[in-house]
Amino acid sequence: MEDCLFCKIINKEIPANIVFENENILAFEDIEPQSPIHLLIIPKKHIATINDIEPQDKNICGDMLLAAKEIANTMNVDSSGFRTIFNTNEDAGQTVFHIHMHFLAGRKMKWPPG
Ligand code: 5GP
Ligand code: ZN
Repeated sequence: MEDCLFCKIINKEIPANIVFENENILAFEDIEPQSPIHLLIIPKKHIATINDIEPQDKNICGDMLLAAKEIANTMNVDSSGFRTIFNTNEDAGQTVFHIHMHFLAGRKMKWPPG
């Protein structure tokens, strides 16, 4: 989609440190990392928020989780642990309206989140 930051990263119009890519999914380093490993796992299809997911998107949603699993294994944090987060709309602090899974690892996390 035009004027979407993450669509521009998918189309390589804006650079990013890409760590994983397949037919449906791209994962790259967050520009403002909140942990030693902080990635964003996104579908190549533009979907603004979880509210906009349709039943026909269920394979893409599954692919996002499978990408998280593969990345965790590759980065050797599958056993030590990692956190995956979707922020949706204002109260959760969503700032980019192309659905993304935050993938955080490399430090002990606190609960509940702020
Ligand atoms: P949200 O706040 O929507 O859950 O997450 C958006 C994330 O995108 C933030 O963690 C922010 O640091 C990251 N971000 C914003 N602009 C860019 C950018 O141009 N490149 C990369 N790699 N990450 C970005
Ligand atoms: Zn987009």
